[in-house]
Amino acid sequence: MDWAEKDLKYIWHPCSQMKDYEELKPIVIDHAQGINLYDIDGNVYKDVVSSWWCNLLGHCNPRINAAVKKQIDTLEHVIFANFSHKTAITLCEKLSKVLPEGLCKFNFTDNGSSAIEAAMKVSFQYHYQTGNPQKKRFMALSDAYHGETIGALSVGGVDLYSEIYKPILLDISRIQGPDCFRCPYGKNREECNCECIEHAEKTFEKYGDETCALLVEPLLQGSAGMKIYPPLYLKKLRELCNKYNVHLIADEIATGYGRTGKMFACNHAGIAPDIMCLSKGLTGGYMPMAIFVTTQKIYDAFYADYNSGKAFMHSHTYSGNPLACSAAIEVLNILEEEKIIEKACENAKYFNELIKETFLPHKNVGEVRSIGLINAIELVKDKKTKEPFDSKLRTGYQIYKKALKNGVLLRPLGDVIYFNPPLIIEKNDMDFVVEKANKCMKDILNS
Ligand SMILES: *Cc1c(COP(=O)(O)O)cnc(C)c1O
Repeated sequence: MDWAEKDLKYIWHPCSQMKDYEELKPIVIDHAQGINLYDIDGNVYKDVVSSWWCNLLGHCNPRINAAVKKQIDTLEHVIFANFSHKTAITLCEKLSKVLPEGLCKFNFTDNGSSAIEAAMKVSFQYHYQTGNPQKKRFMALSDAYHGETIGALSVGGVDLYSEIYKPILLDISRIQGPDCFRCPYGKNREECNCECIEHAEKTFEKYGDETCALLVEPLLQGSAGMKIYPPLYLKKLRELCNKYNVHLIADEIATGYGRTGKMFACNHAGIAPDIMCLSKGLTGGYMPMAIFVTTQKIYDAFYADYNSGKAFMHSHTYSGNPLACSAAIEVLNILEEEKIIEKACENAKYFNELIKETFLPHKNVGEVRSIGLINAIELVKDKKTKEPFDSKLRTGYQIYKKALKNGVLLRPLGDVIYFNPPLIIEKNDMDFVVEKANKCMKDILNS
């Protein structure tokens, strides 16, 4: 039995219809380097999706490898209640220097969804303990994605993931969010005044008083198909949250760590959330770890004598795992010392231009949008009306399969092809992946 067959005998893969694997067998990766994945048959794939958006600085990065190896011979893990270690402390000290103003208390979890869950609980408990027990609702945007656990899935707004579970999800106040590609106001995101904020205003009017927090992916709704909206919209959400005493929870799990051209997407709007969730890029894609960071004000609402019952009694076994923290520290060192984000911004100009030039003229490309090194190409059946393809055709998936045969790992979101490569991608690789993706897109659309 070969490895792919053995895989299928045992493994239930994430976010997959396993029947699809009859035709497209699991690709068994042997090793990886930079943006290249090498499978056991000697094929190479350019990982331009950063292995689900977490690989930040290339696979098998020598500096991160060394940091983790050093840590593993020192301390692999220790209980994090009442115990601590220098690696976690150092990480928080370093992070506090690059985070938006006011974010200073760190809580560790072990994946993005868990950080969202913890943030939601903290927000509810804060209001409960500060005289607002009526605040027990959450708000989120249409098309939001915040993870897959029950609470996180509840605030999410992508039906593909949540539809079936609706009977067991929380009741959320859903804000009709920005839709810049198909703007109902006929504006474009470069020069609008975010007229669509009126939907948020109405939702706040109706539910603001009973809401503890609004969760939002700043500037980029990743899983929705790399939908990008202007910083002004985020600013206006911040103002609404202030007005109604609602926490702004910034889910920077996908947007943090330079993905949008700045360290955090919130930086584009010059705002600070009350709680920020981090994961994915946090450890450079090495270890499952997440953090929520919050303000002194929120922290203080939990600080009291034990018997007052005000503590945040939330824990995860692997909270503050030293191996993950050691990777996370080295990521910050590399970003700073090697000026990674500055260089990525420079390269992004080239990448954005190349992608626009290559894809935009095609009759089925409705929009090319970009932020940082992230570039998305939205395919449509009709360029004028922006009518989408019938999703049953699985156009994006056909392109995905074709691209794999051509050595590029694309993994479109529906019919949105996107690039979200490690920040260290170089120009020759940009040329390669764009050329291949374009060829595959044309082959599929013309057949
Ligand atoms: C990936 C992601 C999550 C969930 O993180 P997991 O580690 O997969 O649980 C939450 N929010 C956003 C914006 C994400 O991209």
